[in-house]
Parts: sequence; C-alpha cells; structure tokens
Amino acid sequence: MTPPAVSFEFFPPKNLEASFRLWDSVQALAPLDPRFVSVTYGAGGTTRDLTRDAVATIHKHSGLKVAAHLTCVNASKSETLAIAEGFAQAGVTDIVALRGDPPKGEGRFTPHPDGFRDSLELIEALAETGRFTIRVGAYPDPHPESAAGMSDVEWLKRKFDAGAHEALTQFFFEAETFFRFRDACDKAGIDKPITPGVLPIENWTGARKFALSCGTVIPQWVDDAFETAARDGRSDLLATALCTELCSDLIEGGVERLHFYTLNRPELTRDVCHALGVTPRAKLENVA
Ligand code: FAD
Repeated sequence: MTPPAVSFEFFPPKNLEASFRLWDSVQALAPLDPRFVSVTYGAGGTTRDLTRDAVATIHKHSGLKVAAHLTCVNASKSETLAIAEGFAQAGVTDIVALRGDPPKGEGRFTPHPDGFRDSLELIEALAETGRFTIRVGAYPDPHPESAAGMSDVEWLKRKFDAGAHEALTQFFFEAETFFRFRDACDKAGIDKPITPGVLPIENWTGARKFALSCGTVIPQWVDDAFETAARDGRSDLLATALCTELCSDLIEGGVERLHFYTLNRPELTRDVCHALGVTPRAKLENVA
C-alpha cells in the first residue's frame, strides 16, 4: 500500500495555553511532511484575528505550507477580500474558501448586507485575483441545507467552475460514503481532486454531537462500538482501529490524499499516519 499524502487541520488558539498546544501539535505532525496544514476560521467569523495570527506564525516558523480558512460570515465583500489580501501579503496564498456557519444561536446563514451571499461568490472573487490556491468544502453525506437547495454534487461542480482547485470533504464514517460521492462527482464531470476529510475520534460524545450538527450520518454499529468500548475503557483503541481501517479502505479504493481534522490533538492522527506508512521524514528545526 503506497502511503497517502496527508494534510492537517488545526484551529486557532484562544489563550496562551492553547497556543502552546497548537504549536506542540504542529511540531508533532510536521515531520510527517504534510502537503499543507490549515487553520480554521471560527463560526460566525469569531476568530478572524486569531486565525490571521496563527496562520502567520505557522507560516513564518514551521516552514510548512499553510492554508487559511476564510468564510463569508459577518463581513462585507471588501472586508473579506482585505483579509485574503492580508494573508497573501504575509506569504500565505492557499485559502479554504467557505460560506461558513452562522454564529452560535443563529439558526440560518444570513449574508451580511454588503457581503458574499454564498461560497460561489467568494470563490469567484478570490479566483479573479489570480493569486490563490482555492480549496473548498464538499459533503459526501448531505449537508443539512442541501435538501432545500441544490444537490451537493451539483453545487460542488459549480464551485470548481467558479475557480476552486481542490475539495476537502466533511468527515464521514464509512469509506463507501466517500466512494458513492466520488462516483457521483465523476458522473457529473468533476475532474478536480476531492480529498477525504478524516476525523480521528478523541472523544465520542463530542464527535457524535458534531456529526449530528453537520449532517454526518452515524451508522448504528459505530454508536454501539463506542458505547461498548467506553464501558470497557477501550475508546482510544477503538478510535485508532476505526480510523486506521477507514483510511486503509479509502487508500485501497484509490485515494491518494487524506486531510485530517486534528482538533489540535496530534497523537491519534500521528498513530494512524504511522500505521498507514506515513513516517517521519524531517525534523521541525526552525522553531522561534
Ligand atoms: P456550501 O458548499 O456553499 O453549501 C453547503 C450546501 O448547501 C451545498 O452543497 C448546497 O447543497 C447547499 N447550498 C448552499 N448555498 C446554496 C445556494 N445558494 N443554492 C443552492 N444550494 C445551496 N466553518 C467555519 O465556520 N469555519 C471553518 O474554518 C470551517 N472549515 C471547514 C472546512 C471544511 C473542509 C469543511 C467541509 C467545512 C468547514 N466549515 C467551517 C463548515 C462550513 O462552514 C459549513 O458546513 C457551512 O454550513 C457550509 O459552508 P460551505 O462553504 O461548505 O457551503
């Protein structure tokens, strides 16, 4: 089995302790030679400055390629594009362009009066500058809003037509879910890379809640397995085994790239990568 190319997602720290955890996570995973690492942009645009600072610090001190997440929430078009320009000026020209989720407590996304109305408008505007590598979200399990709008496959095609270069998927539990989505994308004429997003599960209660909120279907057997493992104090073992098996199935099905949602907890991601043959190549030496 050829080891996959990997990338890692982090979230920006909100305090000093969290900053250390983020940097420790970056250091722990950097030797696995990721294609890029990305930094999220808090729901409702709440971490705008924290995202900018984390992106700039990782870019400057780790030597890794960094992708900055950017959403349309709570900002005018010019404010959003100014943030993108700030990333570019700091040397970061990889962007994960998203519509974004509304702030906590607000049920639906409502565009800013002068803002981008959806991800397509943001992608088009970023693509027009010609400066960015643009990655976008994709949804193998239906996004909660897709039933009311367009199918996720059709919508993804429009994102690529608007100038996106690669899609990173929401997490899912069974490789078959990804393969069905990939086949549907093939049929729709999508020929750009779609990279599966993988969530190593450190905490089943949190992951379960997250899955329910974002439309990821939870198979009954996964629920049952975590319940049993929790009773036996074996949740860590189960999480490592499930994640490694999911990744192996994906690779056997032709997947060459994996994107890990690390939640700034590198251990499980690192263990799974090692099991897949992604082993340390370089040491992160350029630490400030
Ligand atoms: P879109 O893909 O634009 O929309 C989601 C679905 O809704 C579409 O597939 C389509 O079916 C339907 N839809 C949307 N608009 C329309 C329309 N106008 N007409 C018809 N159908 C429509 N959130 C954050 O806040 N910060 C982050 O950093 C962040 N990072 C993420 C990274 C990845 C890889 C992924 C997959 C998600 C991330 N999210 C993040 C979550 C994301 O913001 C939410 O899932 C959000 O609800 C949708 O954003 P999107 O750009 O993917 O939406």
